[in-house]
Amino acid sequence: MESDTHRHPLKHIAVLGSTGSIGRNALEVIASHPERYQVVALAAGQNTELLAKQVQRFRPMAVAVHNRELGRALMDRLSGTGDTEWFWGPEGISRIAGMDGVDTVISAITGAAGLEPTVAAVRAGKDVALANKETLVMAGDLVMREAAAHGVSILPVDSEHSAVLQSLQGHHREDVKRIILTASGGPFRDLSLEEMAEVTPAQALNHPNWDMGPKVTVDSATLMNKGLEVIEARWLFDLPISRISVLIHPQSVIHSMVEYRDGSIIAQMGVPHMITPIAYALSYPRHISTPIAPLDFSQIRSLTFESPDSKRFHCLDLALRAADEGAGMPAVLNAANEIAVDAFLKGNLPFLSIPRLVERVMDRHRPRDLTSVEEVMATDAWARETALDLLASRVI
Ligand code: MG
Repeated sequence: MESDTHRHPLKHIAVLGSTGSIGRNALEVIASHPERYQVVALAAGQNTELLAKQVQRFRPMAVAVHNRELGRALMDRLSGTGDTEWFWGPEGISRIAGMDGVDTVISAITGAAGLEPTVAAVRAGKDVALANKETLVMAGDLVMREAAAHGVSILPVDSEHSAVLQSLQGHHREDVKRIILTASGGPFRDLSLEEMAEVTPAQALNHPNWDMGPKVTVDSATLMNKGLEVIEARWLFDLPISRISVLIHPQSVIHSMVEYRDGSIIAQMGVPHMITPIAYALSYPRHISTPIAPLDFSQIRSLTFESPDSKRFHCLDLALRAADEGAGMPAVLNAANEIAVDAFLKGNLPFLSIPRLVERVMDRHRPRDLTSVEEVMATDAWARETALDLLASRVI
């Protein structure tokens, strides 16, 4: 029912990470609802080819890129394309996240680099549609407190958390017994440890259900992604880790569930495509039209479920350990994992050594509470350096 859309004020949106998988899908959602959404700022890393096209198409008032050289090259190339303001570097990206004229920031930069601009958006009073789960993994406590202090909403773009948010609508929070995050299990769900020892980056990037960026796709293959999502859920929904379960569901039809104390379980289902959770994060609590085909139940032969196997997927255990220990450990887990995944993708680290490297770095961390973004970033930098040293010394 779109007849009442005129009652919605135009939302002015900044897309951080506009050339990535989430960013591209977000721009499609925005473009298909010009009566509701307008792009006012874009930030991207190094894919200036695509960014140039996006600037010409959306004519944002501000654009930020990875560094000065790329920024200058783009400015020259696009001179005469209106009066876009240009920014660069991490400060530039944070600047546009907090700039006047932006209502909602889609935070879709991959990895730890997404933290500072997300915090900048929150501090400037912008609502955040959060795809960058690392923000909450690294600094969930800080970010949620800042969000409360500034009266802004943090709405999940992650499909599982979107499912939980939808399954909570119309229910009382006190009645929630637990949330159940589903996981596809990734491409190696049925492999033995011996087989997993041999897998290549190309195999890891071939996800059975979801089309996503390389980092999160590898994280899905190790189940680290689900571990990070448990930590993300803990902050988004203010629940202890003990009330968040993980369930392998290879068909990715049920995107997650909420169990209530009377035994009722509410699930959100759909075709696995990021367009749906992106749209919901922008339209919450309404649902808007998308080009995604509805789920055809007559074509689904079965929905199956199994418990995760922590022997083969040690990353999930490491994430739960980090969540339990707190005191900077989740930030260490996240940073070490980014280094490990990068090394794996470059062919420099076997698949099963990803959790080994992460665990070695975690074991070296001296736990302490992180009370500022600066401390979180310093811990992140320490964990990266330690991971790189371990890699260089070839002890992994
Ligand atoms: Mg997810």
